[in-house]
Amino acid sequence: HLRTTSAEIERNDSGVGTETSKPSRLRRLMAVENQERQCADCDQQVEPREGKLSGMLCDPLVCRKCERKRYERKELITEIVVTEVKYGRDLNIVKEEFYRPMEVAGLLGKEQLRQIFLNIDELISFSAKFAEKLKDAIDIAREQGDEDYTTVNIGKLFLESTDMLHAFETYCVQQ
Ligand SMILES: [Zn+2]
Repeated sequence: HLRTTSAEIERNDSGVGTETSKPSRLRRLMAVENQERQCADCDQQVEPREGKLSGMLCDPLVCRKCERKRYERKELITEIVVTEVKYGRDLNIVKEEFYRPMEVAGLLGKEQLRQIFLNIDELISFSAKFAEKLKDAIDIAREQGDEDYTTVNIGKLFLESTDMLHAFETYCVQQ
């Protein structure tokens, strides 16, 4: 019950430094003082603290340690997406700048090309699909206001893409 009360107080406060800002801040303090706030991720008690931008006292959803974890997890997810997109781009460059000209020039036979470029078409297709899947998951999280991407189940996305992993197996074995 108290949880709602303090949230309402926060919403009603414009945050602009008016003469009412002091008492309302005190009210907020009193409202949160009497309750046990638990971290959403680890159940540890969370202390109210000043917001980075607003400087206003607020109740963080997670403790500092978990906030850091969420941040690192988000960074990793972002990095995976960026890497996948870049990898797909590189594969397409290899195909368009090397494979195709060689194929068109007829310098090498089909089998020789296959021996050099292996299953590049398969890799391109899987990489594109995987990148799309990742981006979709992030878009959905963002639309839901999930800025930490906590709803992005990155492990599940990898598990759902076992076809892709097999394509890489083929690629690696033939190296
Ligand atoms: Zn925590």
